[in-house]
Amino acid sequence: MTTYDFIVIGGGRAGFSALAPVAASGERTALIDHGAIGGLCSLNGCNPKKVLVRSSEVVEELSNALRFGVDVSGMHAEWGRVIDRKETFTGGVTEQSEQMLRDMGTDLIHGAPRFIGSDRLVVGDEEYHASAFVIATGSIPRPLDFPGAEHVRSTDDILALRTVPEHLVCIGAGVVAFEFGQVFARLGSRVTILARDPALAGAEEEMVAALLDYSRELGIEVVSVESVAEVRDSGGGVCGCISRRRDVRRDRGKLRSERGRACCLARRAGSGCRGGSYGRAWSCGDALSAEREQRRGVRGR
Ligand SMILES: Cc1cc2nc3c(=O)[nH]c(=O)nc-3n(C[C@H](O)[C@H](O)[C@H](O)COP(=O)(O)OP(=O)(O)OC[C@H]3O[C@@H](n4cnc5c(N)ncnc54)[C@H](O)[C@@H]3O)c2cc1C
Repeated sequence: MTTYDFIVIGGGRAGFSALAPVAASGERTALIDHGAIGGLCSLNGCNPKKVLVRSSEVVEELSNALRFGVDVSGMHAEWGRVIDRKETFTGGVTEQSEQMLRDMGTDLIHGAPRFIGSDRLVVGDEEYHASAFVIATGSIPRPLDFPGAEHVRSTDDILALRTVPEHLVCIGAGVVAFEFGQVFARLGSRVTILARDPALAGAEEEMVAALLDYSRELGIEVVSVESVAEVRDSGGGVCGCISRRRDVRRDRGKLRSERGRACCLARRAGSGCRGGSYGRAWSCGDALSAEREQRRGVRGR
């Protein structure tokens, strides 16, 4: 059995934020991850998306160039090259993250852990003990339950598309749907966003109104729907885009309350972590948001 002061499960943005202050204070720390560390934001979320957004903004600016007396007729986006460029930002993330762990003096343990007590877990055959844990295992797209769901692609796939779709249909009207919708509308795709709930629900009204106006100017159509009944592949290829839906991805194991030093370590890990009823384990990042949504019974979008 190996003993640490603090173990973080999940090597994304939330896990690293929790880990950094505790490691800096000289505690013995470990990070457990079952995949490539670096996290959704850097590998398949915020950062690669911004690369696509910027390229599409360049296209939009050049499309208006003639108004400024500049003729760029014949200009077109080579989307495959945009994706190659995106990969220059995502390619080294895991190695850089591993180096950060070494610099922090944190051990990296590969595998999926299983709690076997309030202060211990196992990864494979190895047992690890710690005073406190943070669960930062993120979220995964919630499975879609309508017929033909297998034809629908997720944002991971959209980020790797090497050709611009003729028609992009986004199921769900959240931030990510609008961001991808705007990217492809700027490139000339027809874009339809299917909204079951009000578009960009929860955001400030004035901001939503401005975003909807701009999206309409780009030609994006927002259609209010009760639900998606079915998706069919008509032969021309289907290109859907779903925003990631939250589904909790955590192994609660058997955790019972035993606070004290654990509370102290978790407080040091930052205000982004919140304790549930799991004693020495706290949740962070998407794992925490997903857990809250599930507790509130938020339906899938
Ligand atoms: C397309 C897209 C665009 C986005 N754009 C933005 C944006 O512009 N701004 C913004 O703020 N947010 C954005 N987000 C959301 C943002 O990416 C997430 O909120 C954030 O990355 C969540 O970080 P996290 O550390 O909680 O989880 P993650 O980054 O998902 O990390 C979870 C880690 O846990 C590991 N793991 C999971 N299960 C286990 C297990 N059982 N055992 C061991 N390890 C496990 C995973 O391998 C992973 O490394 C976007 C998301 C998407 C999909």
